[in-house]
Amino acid sequence: MINVSEMSKLGFGLMRLPEEDGNIVMDEVCKMVDMYMDAGLNYFDTAYVYHGGKSECVAKEAIVKRYPRDSFYLATKLPAWEMKEKSDRDRIFNEQLERAGVEYFDFYLLHSIEEGNIDTYEKLDCFSWGLKKKAEGKIKHFGFSFHGSPKLLKKVLDEHPQVEFVQIQLNYADWDNQVVCSGELYNILTERNIPMIIMEPVKGGTLASLRPELEEMFRAVRPEASIASWAFRFVASLPGVMTVLSGMTHEDQMQDNINTFKNFEPLSETEKKTVKEVTETMLNIPTIGCTACRYCVDGCPMKINIPEIFKIVNNIKIYNEDFRAKNMYKDLITKSGKAGDCIACGQCEGVCPQHLPIIDLLKEASEKLDA
Ligand code: SF4
Ligand code: SF4
Repeated sequence: MINVSEMSKLGFGLMRLPEEDGNIVMDEVCKMVDMYMDAGLNYFDTAYVYHGGKSECVAKEAIVKRYPRDSFYLATKLPAWEMKEKSDRDRIFNEQLERAGVEYFDFYLLHSIEEGNIDTYEKLDCFSWGLKKKAEGKIKHFGFSFHGSPKLLKKVLDEHPQVEFVQIQLNYADWDNQVVCSGELYNILTERNIPMIIMEPVKGGTLASLRPELEEMFRAVRPEASIASWAFRFVASLPGVMTVLSGMTHEDQMQDNINTFKNFEPLSETEKKTVKEVTETMLNIPTIGCTACRYCVDGCPMKINIPEIFKIVNNIKIYNEDFRAKNMYKDLITKSGKAGDCIACGQCEGVCPQHLPIIDLLKEASEKLDA
């Protein structure tokens, strides 16, 4: 049984750590970890695949070696797409223990379950394997992260009722989104009383800054609050939410989040109404629903930084800031491929948890940006 009251509402996601020339900047990570721990917070989320395999090693250096093992919770994940046979489960798990420098993981998840990979998890008997690891004390709590449909979520929960928690994507903009189905997933888990960990609460950073007229709607109600804090308070106010993950890159993000969660105030009725009004206004502006998870990046043969290109296109859509966006793009393609370099191999579309038509979207981006 998870002792939810001992877990912090803000979790530190180790998937968007600060980088310089392709290397993680350890000094900055350690500073953020210290700020987080000093604020009395305790949940770290990593995965086998984050930062090309380096994130778990960073957890060892910045957290495990520097804090007593019982002062924090460490979560990591088993990726279907890195496994072919049953022996891969233990191979990966043992590597993870070694990378993170721990004897056990507090939370362990089957990574990103969806229609395209559930067969691998079933074929390799990963649910029974996870429960066995739990019985051995190598995993304290066993669950999964989820990017599939409500129908699949129900099926997985029916077939594997021993799962203790589920991590889902949830934010105010995606509540009624027909692809992400945040609201429906939330309701399924609430009905079954399954604790939730929330990912993408600010939709890959999209909800941290909005069009001026939308920000004004928030400021009119709470002038001193950051725009990101509205997104965090929205999800953290929902019953059943155990922890909200934030993949923080900078100290100022960490400080802002600590301010939001230190003396946490759930949204008032008036504030809930404001979030609804902002959402309705915002959803009338069509953007690309990329959450910057970066699953598509490593496998791209043309080294195209797909999420950054989509962010630039969305900036143009939301802010109408053509000039600034084009400068960002110019800078980006000094280090990575252009949108127009795409050879339509389809690798990225096969791994995108948002099921985005990336090839077509890059064609449109190229027309705007490569001209
Ligand atoms: S389809 Fe284009 S963007 Fe996607 S992986 Fe292939 S080359 Fe890269
Ligand atoms: S395009 Fe899809 S896989 Fe790539 S970063 Fe965006 S959401 Fe993730």
